[in-house]
Amino acid sequence: MILLEGKPVAQNIKARVSERAKSFLNTFGRKPGLAVVLVGGDPASQVYVGHKVKACEELGLASFRHALPEDISQAELNLLIENLNKDSLVDGILVQSPLPKHLSFSEVLDRIAPQKDADGLTPENVGLAWSGRPRVVPCTPAGIIELLKYYQISLERKNVVVIGRSDIVGKPMAQLFLQNNATVTICHSKTKALEEVAKQADIVVAAIGKRNYFTKEFFDRDAVVIDVGIHRLEQGMLCGDVFFKDVKESVRAITPVPGGVGPLTIAMLMQNTVTLAELRV
Ligand code: NAP
Repeated sequence: MILLEGKPVAQNIKARVSERAKSFLNTFGRKPGLAVVLVGGDPASQVYVGHKVKACEELGLASFRHALPEDISQAELNLLIENLNKDSLVDGILVQSPLPKHLSFSEVLDRIAPQKDADGLTPENVGLAWSGRPRVVPCTPAGIIELLKYYQISLERKNVVVIGRSDIVGKPMAQLFLQNNATVTICHSKTKALEEVAKQADIVVAAIGKRNYFTKEFFDRDAVVIDVGIHRLEQGMLCGDVFFKDVKESVRAITPVPGGVGPLTIAMLMQNTVTLAELRV
């Protein structure tokens, strides 16, 4: 079994981003800037935002952290986005999800200027990606493509099954595989005979948000398994959507959790921010 570790891939991406950030600073006299908006006190979101701010510091990007109270109104949040759109020091905007229930993420995405959309989730950027002219694409799926390339797992002519159809992971993941000449099946909670469908795949991406859900019965012996899920167990340990212990010796390659897809998401966010900064100037 090949363990598909994300760290070396993320380090390569970060090294390139750091070089680009340095040359941006030398040329334009300022660092590429990322605004990260966090609403409320969700502990996992606080940790993710902390990692993003730290990565900015490490790679020579400026970060602008906006921590807003849980009970902020949609109008106040929208106003902050509009101010960030106008702020000349901000190249990328990322609003950490999930938002508290009374707030609409779609309404936020409708307001983020597509030229500053660090996660490639606004309708304009989704449309550009699907029409083969990507500006920036969502960080987690983009990172998974980098991971597969790094481990020289070719995508052309492969049967790929993406399990999960969220706007953040499943749908953009399918689009990127399609763009890389794979044949793609997207599965979700209403898919019939999921186990049989997944077993046909050369590559399976599991992104359903259910801990240890996928056992070895779901995968072909030659399958490459990418686990996007992240769950914190009672004892503080992390696990994914794939039951790693059960599956690891029954497939060709698999990502661990933690240490698989996770590190790539942040690296791609940094890359997207620098790309947007370069495009804007
Ligand atoms: P999400 O928005 O909750 O979407 C889950 C998707 O899985 C939905 O499309 C749902 O189908 C489908 N699903 C749920 N149960 C299923 C089942 N039993 N069989 C088949 N499909 C099922 O989740 P998400 O935002 O995509 O995130 C998925 C996981 O990835 C979460 O654990 C999240 O924490 C993690 N994540 C990790 C990273 C990272 O950097 N590593 C980044 C983002 C997310 P329906 O559409 O039919 O409801």
